[in-house]
Amino acid sequence: MGCASALALAEKGANVVVLERAVPGAEASSAAAGILGAQVELHGREEDVALFVRARDAWGPWARALREASGVDVGHRVSGVLRVACAADEAAALEDEVKWQRTRGLRADLLGPDQAHEIEPELAPHIVAAVHLPDDAQVDPPALLRALVAALARSPRVTLRTGATVERLLVEGDRCVGVRLSDMDLYADATVLAAGSWSSLVPGVPSTWPQVRPVRGQIVLLDERPPRVRSIVFGARGYVVPRGDGRVVCGSTMEHADFRKEVTAAGVHAILEGALACVPSLGSAQVAGMWSNFRPHVEGGQALVGSSAMAGLFLATGHYRNGILLSKVTADAVAGAVLASAALDPSTA
Ligand SMILES: Cc1cc2nc3c(=O)[nH]c(=O)nc-3n(C[C@H](O)[C@H](O)[C@H](O)COP(=O)(O)OP(=O)(O)OC[C@H]3O[C@@H](n4cnc5c(N)ncnc54)[C@H](O)[C@@H]3O)c2cc1C
Repeated sequence: MGCASALALAEKGANVVVLERAVPGAEASSAAAGILGAQVELHGREEDVALFVRARDAWGPWARALREASGVDVGHRVSGVLRVACAADEAAALEDEVKWQRTRGLRADLLGPDQAHEIEPELAPHIVAAVHLPDDAQVDPPALLRALVAALARSPRVTLRTGATVERLLVEGDRCVGVRLSDMDLYADATVLAAGSWSSLVPGVPSTWPQVRPVRGQIVLLDERPPRVRSIVFGARGYVVPRGDGRVVCGSTMEHADFRKEVTAAGVHAILEGALACVPSLGSAQVAGMWSNFRPHVEGGQALVGSSAMAGLFLATGHYRNGILLSKVTADAVAGAVLASAALDPSTA
C-alpha cells in the first residue's frame, strides 16, 4: 500500500519519501497468494461489489504500466477461479452464489462435474459441482513488489529509505506534520500511514481509532513438474493458485496468533489436506517453500483509506484478505485525497 500510493502520488507530481523499516514487501504483500478474487471473495457482501470489480478491472492496465515503468512482469493472468463442491449441501450453496452474482451482472456459471473437469482436468473425481468465475485473476506478489520498487527507484520524485523505522507521528496541535525516525524528524504536508498489521502500533496513532490487528495466514508453495493445474481452485478448506510455470501456491490458514511468524505442523497439514482434496495430483509435487504473514484486519472488515480524523494524516491500511486486489484503487484514492487536501501544490506535497 505504501509503495503503490507513493507511485500514484509521484505520477501526479508530488515529491514522496517512502519509509520502510525493513525492505518493501518484507511482510504481507510478498507473502500473499496474489488472487485478484473480486468475485470469489465477495461472500454476498453487497457493499463490496462495485469496488472489488473496479479494483480487478484496474489491474490489466496497471500491470502493463508497471512493466513499462519497471521492466518487471508482475504475472497478471486472467486465469479464472473454480469454486468446487464435494457434497450436496455445498453444491446448493454454490447454486445460490451463482444466482446472487448473476443478478449483479457478474459472470458466473454453475457447472456439473464433467464441465468442471473440462476446464480443470486435474480436479478430484468426487467433485459434484463447481462455480466458474472466468474474470477473476491473479498476479505474482513478489514480482509486484519488485516492479513497484524498481518503478519508485526510477522516479525522480521518490526517495526510498529502507531500514527506516517510523518511531512516532509528529503531531502539532491537532495536525500530523510528519514522522520521527531514529536519526531525524521528517516534516511533510501529508503523511500516509501504510504500516499493514502494525498500523495501530505506530506511536501517535490515536488508540481510539479502529484497531488494525494481524490475522496470520500460512502458505505452502509446491513445484509441479510438468505444470498441469491451470485454474485457481477454491475448495471448502483452502485454495490452490497455479502460476502457470509449475509453481502452485496453496493456502491458507486464518489464525489469531499475534505476530508469531511461524509455519506450524497443523497449518501445513490443513493446507495440504485442503489442496489435495481438490487436486489430488498435487500429491506428487515437490514442496518448494512455506511461509506465513499477517493480514491487516480492522474490526468490521472495512479498510481504512484516504483522509483521517487527524489533519495531515492519510490512511492506506486494513485490507485484510484483499490488499493485492485493492492496491491500485487504494493508491489512486490515497493520492486523490492527499492532493485534494488543502489544495496542496503537488510539487510541495
Ligand atoms: C497468507 C496470505 C495470503 C494472502 N493472499 C491474498 C490474495 O490472494 N489476494 C489479495 O488481494 N490479498 C491477499 N492477502 C492480503 C494482502 O497480502 C494484504 O492485505 C496486503 O499485502 C497488505 O498490504 P500492506 O501494505 O497494508 O501491508 P504489508 O505488506 O504488511 O506492509 C506493511 C509494511 O509496513 C512496514 N512497517 C510496519 N511498521 C513500520 C514502521 N513503524 N516504520 C516503517 N515501516 C513499518 C512493514 O515492514 C511492512 O513492509 C494475503 C495475505 C496473507 C498473509
